[in-house]
Amino acid sequence: MSADHREQQPGQQGSRIDPYVGRYAHRAQGMVASEVRALFAVASRPEVVSLAGGMPNVGALPLDQISELIRDVVAEEGPTALQYGSAQGDPALRELLCDYMTQEGVDASPDDVIVTVGSQQALDLITRVFVDPGDVVLCEGPTYVTAINTFAAFQADIRHVSMDEQGVVPEELDEALTRAAREGRRVKFFYTVPNFHNPGGITMSGQRRARVIEVCERHDVLIVEDNPYGLLRYEGEAEATLYSQGSGNVIYLGSLSKTLSPGLRIGWALAPAPVRAKLVLAAESAMLSHSMFNQLVVRRYLKTFPWREQIKVFNAMYGERRDAMLSALEAMMPQGCTWTRPQGGFFVWATMPEGIDVKAMQPRALAERVAYVPGTGFYADDRGRSDMRLSFCFPAPEEIREGVRRLSGVVENELDLRDTFGSTLVPPTAGSQAPAPDLS
Ligand code: PMP
Repeated sequence: MSADHREQQPGQQGSRIDPYVGRYAHRAQGMVASEVRALFAVASRPEVVSLAGGMPNVGALPLDQISELIRDVVAEEGPTALQYGSAQGDPALRELLCDYMTQEGVDASPDDVIVTVGSQQALDLITRVFVDPGDVVLCEGPTYVTAINTFAAFQADIRHVSMDEQGVVPEELDEALTRAAREGRRVKFFYTVPNFHNPGGITMSGQRRARVIEVCERHDVLIVEDNPYGLLRYEGEAEATLYSQGSGNVIYLGSLSKTLSPGLRIGWALAPAPVRAKLVLAAESAMLSHSMFNQLVVRRYLKTFPWREQIKVFNAMYGERRDAMLSALEAMMPQGCTWTRPQGGFFVWATMPEGIDVKAMQPRALAERVAYVPGTGFYADDRGRSDMRLSFCFPAPEEIREGVRRLSGVVENELDLRDTFGSTLVPPTAGSQAPAPDLS
């Protein structure tokens, strides 16, 4: 652990790496770069097939039409687009977002909506408003990496609840809530990504949704339902949102980052009125007002552009990529590897056979020009060592097949290492007691 990650003492001297380390607030200790971000520099080299990043393929947007639309915003609504707006967001945009949400069966009115800078800002505002240091936040295990970073930045006690192929396990959720109550700890909310989970690729079944709502209502705990991928479905039928099934204890988060563009940074939250008022105040202090320009671009897009058709275009493209990944995994991965079969979204969660440490394997995979994200990045504890997240959103199908081919070769080698030396977990280091393997 580096000096700046260590428990910071008041008055502690700065280090050469960071001369300010002794002056940061305690909460800044929880702010560390995610594994996904740390990987970006290497994974984005052209010779590497990256199955690591979760970037939407915005190249599938008709950029000439978008550029015309942006020009019209400036020409026709310039003075409004270039002015301050409000922290709750443009009312006409909020109305259009309600129309957008009807696609998911969500019935909301514009007053219920607060526009946010991506759903990421909603996560930050919710945590800011609800979480004191040491408060418990429950989330799925694994969970979205930047949600972990946000909860950690507010010094939450992050606890995971396991998932199976139907989503979070309600009995474990119940147990975690009971345990926290027994410990006298306050659980502030349960954070879930019910559709095409990032990173798990799992969709919570209808039965589970009902159970999760029942458990959380019984324990009087809020649910934060994060749903950026819901409309990116390549097969199967959608389940009703938790928001539309709950009775006021669900905060719903939406985003246009995956169905339009992450560059425009438009997300939103639906929350009960008193919570919404707090979120608006927190948003005001964080950024005063939203970008009116971006909001008007999105407003015009949702009003004038055939966006439902555009989502079908995205779904055909991502669906083909998902199929390419699943069939390549089936054809090439060594025996003993397992993976999830997402019905939508961007991600597959793959589990390697016993004895393979996915993080230790990473440099060897990069040397073979394939990148993934080790599973440990999606847990606040030490789970996920045998797991990896594979994303199929950005590379073309033939690149995905090539990436899986390289990955399968790396895993084969790793299995040989494991069978020769018993484990690939801890590569022997100088001075360690482990006998050095003869690699000559
Ligand atoms: N939640 C989940 C589950 C995500 O995967 C992401 C983006 N990767 C976000 C929230 C944040 O997205 P944005 O801020 O762009 O809406």
